[in-house]
Amino acid sequence: MSASRTHLTVVQGDLTEQAVDAVVNAANSSLLGGGGVDGAIHRRGGPEILAGCRVLRNGHYGRGLPTGQAVATTAGRLPARWVIHTVGPVHSAGTDRGDLLASCYRESLRVAGELGARTVAFPAISTGAYGWPLADGARTAFTTVRAALAEAPDAFDEIRFVVFDDRAREVYEAALTENGG
Ligand code: ADP
Repeated sequence: MSASRTHLTVVQGDLTEQAVDAVVNAANSSLLGGGGVDGAIHRRGGPEILAGCRVLRNGHYGRGLPTGQAVATTAGRLPARWVIHTVGPVHSAGTDRGDLLASCYRESLRVAGELGARTVAFPAISTGAYGWPLADGARTAFTTVRAALAEAPDAFDEIRFVVFDDRAREVYEAALTENGG
């Protein structure tokens, strides 16, 4: 039995269509847009998000957002209140960067908690252009989120994992079952 009251859900669909308090963006360290999830968020959310990112670049994040960290902006026209930008590690066959991937989930939840977000939607961070194997990414996501929820059992109502295609949904559902359902 889970110690937390938070529901962990897997949803197949488009991250930019999720009506949640906070949507997590698989950003790159420039914070100025990219492909995949990042491109979709900026396209659909409109210029307000990029304006928020530019403010961050002109302030505390002059050199960009370091890998494994997270920071929030408005969600613009998305059906969410905030976008939490986090930078996943590029997968490397030679170096284990799993701690950085875990940090993305942990830091994003920390920022979400500070904002007062009760529902948070995550993409499969690093598993697209950054080449992270999906099953390992899913395991890292669930393990890390569960550990964070054990520390803050009342902070969130739902953590939603949004996957794009059938294979990703199967992998995520299997990983969620393995990780305690
Ligand atoms: P990264 O650069 O961190 O690897 P990507 O955006 O390239 O991030 O991909 C991360 C994951 O998100 C991939 O599994 C990809 O299939 C998925 N993805 C891409 N676009 C969307 C979207 N609009 N909604 C949900 N998932 C998406």
